[in-house]
Amino acid sequence: MSETLANLLKEERTFPPPAALAAEANVTDAAYQQAADDRLAFWETQAGRLEWSKPWDQVLDWSNPPFAKWFVGGELNVAYNCLDRHVAAGNGGKVAIHWEGEPGDTRTITYDDLLTSVSQAANYLTELGITAGDRVAIYLPMIPEAAVAMLACARLGATHSVVFGGFSADSLSNRINDASAKLVITADGGYRRGKPSGLKSIVDEALQSTPSVEHVLVVRRTGQEVAWGEKDLWWHETVERAPAEHTAQAFDAEHPLFILYTSGTTAKPKGILHTSGGYLTQAAYTHHAVFDLKPETDVHWCTADIGWVTGHSYIVYGPLANGATQVMYEGTPDTPSKSRFWEIVDRYKVTILYTAPTLIRTMMKWGADIPAGFDLSSLRILGSVGEPINPEAWIWYRETIGHGTTPVVDTWWQTETGAIMISPLPGVTATKPGSAMTPLPGISADVVDDQGKSVPNGGGGYLVLREPWPSMLRTIWGDDNRFVETYWSRFDGMYFAGDGAKKDDDGHIWLLGRVDDVMLVSGHNISTTEVESALVSHPSVAEAAVVGATDPTTGQAIVAFTIPRGNVDTSGEAGEALIQELRNHVAKTLGPIAKPRQIMLVAELPKTRSGKIMRRLLRDVAEHRSLGDVTTLQDSTVMDLIASGMQDSK
Ligand code: ATP
Ligand code: MG
Repeated sequence: MSETLANLLKEERTFPPPAALAAEANVTDAAYQQAADDRLAFWETQAGRLEWSKPWDQVLDWSNPPFAKWFVGGELNVAYNCLDRHVAAGNGGKVAIHWEGEPGDTRTITYDDLLTSVSQAANYLTELGITAGDRVAIYLPMIPEAAVAMLACARLGATHSVVFGGFSADSLSNRINDASAKLVITADGGYRRGKPSGLKSIVDEALQSTPSVEHVLVVRRTGQEVAWGEKDLWWHETVERAPAEHTAQAFDAEHPLFILYTSGTTAKPKGILHTSGGYLTQAAYTHHAVFDLKPETDVHWCTADIGWVTGHSYIVYGPLANGATQVMYEGTPDTPSKSRFWEIVDRYKVTILYTAPTLIRTMMKWGADIPAGFDLSSLRILGSVGEPINPEAWIWYRETIGHGTTPVVDTWWQTETGAIMISPLPGVTATKPGSAMTPLPGISADVVDDQGKSVPNGGGGYLVLREPWPSMLRTIWGDDNRFVETYWSRFDGMYFAGDGAKKDDDGHIWLLGRVDDVMLVSGHNISTTEVESALVSHPSVAEAAVVGATDPTTGQAIVAFTIPRGNVDTSGEAGEALIQELRNHVAKTLGPIAKPRQIMLVAELPKTRSGKIMRRLLRDVAEHRSLGDVTTLQDSTVMDLIASGMQDSK
């Protein structure tokens, strides 16, 4: 970026917290001041939410940056903190997970049940020779065994590497090899879109090139035929017959907990390493603070897959460390019908819903009458994560799902940060649609210019983190150099997040998309997010992705790929008229500089398996190049369709 980001979008609407929520909120305004007065003391207090076998001697060791150590000398067991201590406190009978399979089968799992299953799995993994420090790959659908497997690893000090169940054999074997995993835990298959899909068969293929794997432990989920080899073991014949008592041993606060590969939206996925004490502290604190979790009454539902960091921190570690009751759902939101999510909210009286902008925009496209058929009055907090949320999607979420009253918390964070970093607090913050607002207490985020200088209010630039935080990544697995280069070399002494951001006139933070995606038009840096939000604010548009394509006159020109809403006529002349109208709409909303050179109406956008738009592929199309790496793409046929449409329109 040769200059700071232009600041085009103006948003005047604000929504103060509901008075009743504010009056009872877990975290008040005072937390910001406490953390500002003494950041380390603040985090020390938060670490006190956990049960430690041995207290720490030092809160933070930052003597060898960027390699941080938090709660130095402290010892704890992560699984003990998520299970045993709740059982010991008399809450064993409480529901931990209301699980719902895609075909409609359900399981109700109490903390007692979960502790039993995790103890059995820990015992059996020990029998297989898994000890502290070993790596275990987990390739499972969204079934309770996924959480059980993760917690069993945590209990033994083995490092889990969860690989999203939608990834190919190649992606799986790369991840297994990168971490030299000894064990793979998988299932015969899982249900997706009404059909059993195979997982074991993909593991079999991956295992042709993974010399480190000694055993494959297979959960029977669908009952489909699977090939069986000498490394294979059925979960129900082993784990479920193992002894149900297991005593957890404490590990160092910096003991590795998991490796998780980033989504791969921009480049080759990085194996992000997280450790125990600091990670669990921040996962638990943020779940308590950002969602105002009341463990006695709330029903939390995070719709992410356990294969993403959101599933790690806000299905497994945060909620279970806090003794929450939650919903876990196996399948897709449109199976058997487009009302599946709202049926679930209604049935379990979900109070906290945490989902992604891609889903919110999809629900918008499907129309408001679908949620209108259900009682969603139990919802009291709505969360968003994964991409910038367009103001219109934010408003729709609050109005249509949150009956016009629930706070929407737009939470910015990354696989690397381990937990939420920038977000409103629902009982404190007067929110603005589309803004992640303020760094959480104890977090020092900033927006800086090219030189690393903090930009004034109204300015845009790069999002950075100035101080280490408890749940920060400790390195990229096996590649300290890439860790230093990727995150710590751009600006001296600051963590470079790779995202563009601006501060509005009140100093609130707006995420503007990835730095790699920022467009340079006639000497102005323009954010993809702002142009996309302008498009989505038009009533005919459901979703939009915008890229900068090389242009002889302007350097780069804006090319937009737009999905119309369901009821919009896009044939022939009507389509042409709509395109002109949208170009003018953007120019009117953001200024003539942001008027797209070209708009294509498309049926789908290329997305990663985590649902994020992959703009670099659209850039390839817009510039008539052959496509870059498509392995993390959800559906590669989408690109063929878009590319052929692009040819036609030339
Ligand atoms: P890769 O790093 O491999 O390209 P990725 O960045 O998509 O993949 P994740 O760690 O899952 O992998 O995603 C983190 C990124 O998601 C952030 O850096 C940011 O770009 C985006 N993001 C997450 N939450 C928000 C949010 N609330 N607002 C804006 N952007 C967000
Ligand atoms: Mg990233």
